[in-house]
Amino acid sequence: MAIPQSFLDELVARCDIVDVVSSYVPLTKRSGSNRFGLCPFHSEKTPSFSVNQDKQIYHCFGCGKGGGVVNFVMEMENLSFGDAVALLAKRVGMTVPEDDVPLETRRRRQRMLELNRDAARFFHDCLSAPEGEKAVAYLKKRGITRKMVTRFGLGAAPDSWDRLMNAMEKKGYSQAELLDAWLVTRNQKGGGLHDTFHDRLMFPVIDVRGEVVGFSGRTLGDDDRKYVNSHDTLVFSKSRQLFGLNLAKKTKSGRLILVEGNIDVVTLHQAGFDGAVASLGTSLTPEQARLLKRYSENAVIAYDGDAAGVKAAQRAIGVLEKTGIGVKVLKLPPVTDEHGDPVLDADGRPAKDDPDSFIRRRGAEAFSLLLEKSDNHIEYRLSAIRAAHDLETDEGRIAYLAEATGLLSELDSAVEREIYGARVAEAAGVSKEAVANELRKAFRRRISARKKKEEQAMQRVSANIQPADRAIRYDDPQSAAAEEGVIRLILLDQSLLASAGTLEPSEFTSPFLAKLFDELKRRKREGAAITPAAVAAGLSPSEAAQLTVILGKPESIAGGERAMADYIEKIRSRKLSGQADLLEVAQRLREKKGYGG
Ligand SMILES: [Zn+2]
Repeated sequence: MAIPQSFLDELVARCDIVDVVSSYVPLTKRSGSNRFGLCPFHSEKTPSFSVNQDKQIYHCFGCGKGGGVVNFVMEMENLSFGDAVALLAKRVGMTVPEDDVPLETRRRRQRMLELNRDAARFFHDCLSAPEGEKAVAYLKKRGITRKMVTRFGLGAAPDSWDRLMNAMEKKGYSQAELLDAWLVTRNQKGGGLHDTFHDRLMFPVIDVRGEVVGFSGRTLGDDDRKYVNSHDTLVFSKSRQLFGLNLAKKTKSGRLILVEGNIDVVTLHQAGFDGAVASLGTSLTPEQARLLKRYSENAVIAYDGDAAGVKAAQRAIGVLEKTGIGVKVLKLPPVTDEHGDPVLDADGRPAKDDPDSFIRRRGAEAFSLLLEKSDNHIEYRLSAIRAAHDLETDEGRIAYLAEATGLLSELDSAVEREIYGARVAEAAGVSKEAVANELRKAFRRRISARKKKEEQAMQRVSANIQPADRAIRYDDPQSAAAEEGVIRLILLDQSLLASAGTLEPSEFTSPFLAKLFDELKRRKREGAAITPAAVAAGLSPSEAAQLTVILGKPESIAGGERAMADYIEKIRSRKLSGQADLLEVAQRLREKKGYGG
């Protein structure tokens, strides 16, 4: 786990925080020394997440998270310190000295990947054996070719409870290893073991490096759980994987297509839409959205046409939008018969397609046309709002206008507001000017609300000296304010460390601030980097966040030496008055005793 300090300092110096953060979060242009963006760690509509290029730190005025580039990647990718360092090193072409991950963990990971690959091979081989008949019949019914079966490594889990377990044990894997990889499960009652996947069409989940990290199985029998996915293991996290991304990442189409089911992914790839991926049965997570963004600037949501699909699409739009990826939504038309009349489903409602059924009925060409004319997400949301109101009535029109202008006022582009505003006006049967007027008002309201919120957040941060985390709360806030000042001055101008003279960490009242001061002195002695980002790299999330709060408070370096002297005097006089208080208390206690005795 020991990564050499010099390596870490150089890595932090080479990874510009604005570069790294903006590959996850769209940032505004510089305003003062800060750039702002929507915080990736809490949900918000107006940006309170700031990145300071000079200090190489980030800080959120909303949720209080903050730190340097290493802290950001740890938080963002949910990685350990060592893994975050490795990821950043890869980014700038540095090699981490090898001993960051314990050997035992590396060995267990490697072994689990081998087991997964062997299990995938076992499932795949079952397709050519009698126990794979059901799966083969299903694939045939879906029109999936041999080529696709090979490309995706599809397979069959037999209608048995121990075939996989036996085959893998024969290959030398232990029951514990099978359990860890979630390939076998313990019975609830007896405690015996059985295969996790049984009587299912198997989709291996292959990560972008080409490793089989988990499995997704579609029911072929009477189990009414349509899909069963691997639980999280040492090598698999469902919320961070997308089915099909190992192939889709190579698409030349310039867009990824997000669908609901694994089978849709296979069908789309077969029809030539090689950017299709699926989110493994969960609704799209922020981690998955960021993964998408890493491989493409554009995403099209092509969920099922039923009510659940529409709802999931609305949710996915919000998650994708936060990454700054261009989002469009493909609308599958209602199913019609050869006369163009709507076909009804069993409940008497218009039948809805999913991408797979649409392509099978209408062909790839028709899907391609839909893809080309898919709405951008604003149009999609506007039409959803429109569908929710009866525009024949005055009340309906008023409610529609209110909701639609509310949505449009969130657009930062004046041109977009005008274009969509005109469309809303037409739909509601009112003048363009009236809508434009409403929009201007709503937009101004939103801007001033945003400003107010930012100001309040700034005030909160400076008014309350106490760290958010109770573990590092200050016993003596007055002294701590001065101790913070010492740290802040040195990090703004390291030559001021000399002005701290004989001040010792032991004179600090806050153990956290004393630790920081000690670290700064140590770095000075060893000639290591004295920058906020380098220091933050070694801190816990709440400590790093507090460091950014400290650095965010106003300070003038112009009179740095004078300020340093003032802070030191404050620390020492608080200490004296603290001792005086103690003496007084002791004296009073003695007196009391005297009277009593
Ligand atoms: Zn935040």
